[in-house]
Amino acid sequence: MERVADYIALEDRYGARNYHPLDVVLTRGEGVWVYDVEGNRYLDCLSAYSAVNHGHCHPRLAAVMEAQARRLTLTSRAFRNDKLGVFYATLCRLTGYPMALPMNTGAEAVETAIKAARKWGALVKKIERDQAEIIVCAGNFHGRTTTIVGFSSEPRYREGFGPFAPGFVTVPFGDAAALEAAVTPRTAAFLFEPIQGEAGVIVPPEGYLRAARALCSARNVLLMADEIQTGLGRTGRLFACDHENVKPDVCIVGKALAGGFYPVSAVLASEEVLGVFRPGEHGSTFGGNPLGAAVAVEALRVMVEEDFPGRAAELGAYFRTRLAAMASPHVKAVRGKGLLIGVELRPEAGGARRFCEALERRGVLCKEARADVIRFAPPLVVTRAEIDWALGPIAEALAMA
Ligand SMILES: *Cc1c(COP(=O)(O)O)cnc(C)c1O
Repeated sequence: MERVADYIALEDRYGARNYHPLDVVLTRGEGVWVYDVEGNRYLDCLSAYSAVNHGHCHPRLAAVMEAQARRLTLTSRAFRNDKLGVFYATLCRLTGYPMALPMNTGAEAVETAIKAARKWGALVKKIERDQAEIIVCAGNFHGRTTTIVGFSSEPRYREGFGPFAPGFVTVPFGDAAALEAAVTPRTAAFLFEPIQGEAGVIVPPEGYLRAARALCSARNVLLMADEIQTGLGRTGRLFACDHENVKPDVCIVGKALAGGFYPVSAVLASEEVLGVFRPGEHGSTFGGNPLGAAVAVEALRVMVEEDFPGRAAELGAYFRTRLAAMASPHVKAVRGKGLLIGVELRPEAGGARRFCEALERRGVLCKEARADVIRFAPPLVVTRAEIDWALGPIAEALAMA
């Protein structure tokens, strides 16, 4: 089995068709670079949707992963392990939250936050039992469980997957007045992405997060930020909410938490919120396992020691400036924060997919976010020289007819 077509044929023969990948078959990665089975090299400008912020196969993470894999991988939470406490302490001290609840995927952490908010609503806010509402934003992406897709506004994510869980109210993203109008005495939480990644890197108007914070404080509603894609340095600060000096009551992290080596997610909050869970009321077989915990601790240390937020801020500003200067007839807007960048194309450009395919042929891998936005989100270990290199193929692709 050597030919690209053979690998693709095997996937297509046995695999469910829930993705439409670019036809590049990767076999190796190092830093920002990935290599296909024919030896071609590509600069990864997706970073597995920000899960690979540390670059591929970061040597420090590989060393910890390997050592822990030989020592102890999974105990279940029926027993304690010697890595979980260190993981809690590292994560909580770094983020300033008093308590954490570990899960594996982002969607599980979002589900955990929803459960915590509802139970907090009943126990603390005294909303009538099973009547709590959670406000969400149009254009949201919070994962793929049936509860979560039930409050998506994207038809492809939801159609045919109902019936859906009730208790969610949708407001337009970035509109503080609409949020205020939607709050009722039954509102337990406002769940939002500080920058909507999958919707096309949508940055809300300046002041929106502060307004949401003030409103939630005034109305006793939990401000619940999904920082799974935006957090841990990606946007130039530890969290995207930090750009407005806003501290959510609940912060959901995942993706880069274990540097792309292992699925580790977590919900961060106060004792008042996460304390609603009593033994047996929530859990996960793999959540908090020593392998994931050990890798996550090292990934957090690397993020701090290599100053990922600072790198993202500086290099992101540079990348955006250079993209904006390209003056391509196809480009409508360049936006984003840090190294989470969206290039919105004009309607007549024919969609982002053909540009992603053209970039693949030129050695740059990226993925469209919605139909007409190219997302550029390289690993945060990227250098200015590597960005300069990528700008060549990007300029060529954007100059296509
Ligand atoms: C990726 C993502 C999720 C879901 O994470 P999974 O690990 O794929 O379940 C949730 N929220 C946001 C903002 C994401 O980008």
